[in-house]
Amino acid sequence: MTAPEIRLLLLGGTTESLALAEALAGDRRLTVITSLAGRTVAHRLPPGEVRVGGFGGAPGLAAYLRERGIGLVVDATHPFAATISRNAAQACRETGVPRLQMLRPAWSREAGDRWLEVPDVTAAAAALPGLGTTAFLAIGRQELAPFAALKGLRLIARMVDPPDLAGFEIILARGPFSLADERTLLENARVDVVVSKNSGGDATYAKIAAARRLGLPVVMIVRPPPEAGDRADSLDAALSWISTRLTSSEPPH
Ligand code: NAP
Repeated sequence: MTAPEIRLLLLGGTTESLALAEALAGDRRLTVITSLAGRTVAHRLPPGEVRVGGFGGAPGLAAYLRERGIGLVVDATHPFAATISRNAAQACRETGVPRLQMLRPAWSREAGDRWLEVPDVTAAAAALPGLGTTAFLAIGRQELAPFAALKGLRLIARMVDPPDLAGFEIILARGPFSLADERTLLENARVDVVVSKNSGGDATYAKIAAARRLGLPVVMIVRPPPEAGDRADSLDAALSWISTRLTSSEPPH
């Protein structure tokens, strides 16, 4: 007798979630449903089922887990997507569905780095005036508001989709970015301070390395604390967690 398929809800929107969906494609023990917030137009869709849009908070997510008979949840959302991660933790607690949070390691300071660590975007904006006159903001369009009020600074902001706010020089681009290109960008625009979230991962690290080489200060927004519970910091670790859960849910022979 073959074991029934387990439905795995993969909360996505990151390179890691795409890699996990690809790694799990073809595993007959699982049906993978990737969930995307739908904020940006996805440039590459994962294999398997994809759903788009919010669930309606933790209660909505809990209802979805019950309705769809979800057996496992992997939260592979961005380290700064704290609300969906908190909702996932709450909904899984309530429904008893096992949950893994996949979190890429944060970047750590290296020799030559001039980081000023701040807790959030508001603190990052408050810190800028003392640090430079031309800032490169490598943050999302929904995080620009605290910077809009700054006077006398040139603000160059890079993001995937155009913002609603005025007052910024906008560069529309999606990573990965190379060290050579980041260095050229910072030099040509005469940037003297960089603002970044500590996202971790390789795709957007080049601006941090370029700032180090150019001796520029970086206002580094630290991550929100992760949810308690099981965590994986790599694709292999996530696959191993899933494999263990599948084995433990198989009926005895
Ligand atoms: P967030 O603040 O944690 O979540 C806000 C709301 O968006 C959630 O309460 C939920 O709505 C909905 N949501 C978020 N992720 C979702 C998902 N994967 N599937 C369904 N609904 C989702 O999230 P965020 O920081 O705006 O990020 C949104 C998405 O962009 C995430 O998928 C994240 O992985 C990705 N992303 C974020 C960043 C970043 O820096 N924040 C960077 C790159 C990619 P309901 O309450 O209605 O369920």
